[in-house]
Amino acid sequence: MIDLHLHLDGSIDPEDMPRLAELSGAALPSTRQEELRSLLSVEPDCRNLGEYLEKFQLPLRVLQTGESLEYAVYRLLERLSGQGLCHGEIRFAPQLHLEKGMSQEQAVSAAAAGLLRGIRDFGLSAGLILCCMRGEGNRAENMETVAVAERFLGRGVCALDLAGNEAAYPTYRFADVFRRAGERGIPVVIHAGEAAGAESVRTALELGAVRIGHGIHAASDAELMEILRDRGIFLELCYSSNLQTRAVGLPEEYPLERFLDRGVRATVNTDNVTVSGTSLKREYLLLQERFGLSGEALKGLAINAAEAAFVTEGQRAALKERIDREFPLWLSSGEPKGK
Ligand SMILES: [Zn+2]
Repeated sequence: MIDLHLHLDGSIDPEDMPRLAELSGAALPSTRQEELRSLLSVEPDCRNLGEYLEKFQLPLRVLQTGESLEYAVYRLLERLSGQGLCHGEIRFAPQLHLEKGMSQEQAVSAAAAGLLRGIRDFGLSAGLILCCMRGEGNRAENMETVAVAERFLGRGVCALDLAGNEAAYPTYRFADVFRRAGERGIPVVIHAGEAAGAESVRTALELGAVRIGHGIHAASDAELMEILRDRGIFLELCYSSNLQTRAVGLPEEYPLERFLDRGVRATVNTDNVTVSGTSLKREYLLLQERFGLSGEALKGLAINAAEAAFVTEGQRAALKERIDREFPLWLSSGEPKGK
């Protein structure tokens, strides 16, 4: 399997929190695993995006030094490899890790070191996606993220993203940031059509996005779905997360089938392993259960992820070959559902 949409700060295992706190010189409200888990993960009855986003406060507090970022990325790759992933693209916003004096460059350098060490030790490929942040008054920080992405492109970093409050800060406001990314040849993905409508996805395409984070509200716009299909734009779907943040009201309203029927290429992702309390395997199984997808259809979604990954063509061929060979095995293995 391949996860293309996975936030570092939303995917910290409670088990790693004491060590990360130590490496960040931060205090934890508790060292008990169960208490930490409830501080890091939403309840099944999560009511809205606000409640969901609260869960990022504690992990961000323990990711404020180079040592902690490197360790967090390394440990995440270890877990992903153990869960059957052959490739993962991990995203984070360097500008959210500067509270103790790190520069964005130092933050990315540390994360890249953890990534390269993890790739070497755990037998999977991986890349970092650097998130610019939606917000007010942070243009300089976003421009700095573009500059750092350019510096580390091909040395751990594979793309640039736009994350944050989509409803409050519309996509078009960040046009100059992504114009610069385009000039510098940095691949672009943008969170769009999650907390805002189809027009946000259209703007993301205008800003050069080749993949859309979520994109679920594109399903309300037939013409846009044709554009997505014709341009071969991939959607990074995150089913559990979308239900928890109420981006989609009910499971049966989830537009996966609408995308598949229209030939829009979708991929399956976790968004946040810990905050959402999920795993990539669980996401595939939930979609299978909800929509009655065949093993072949699920495999098609996994192949889409290989097609969409920011890798060399040689790596892409190897990923597709591996998925083709190994993907259905765990589906028919009769393992219990769940994490
Ligand atoms: Zn996301």
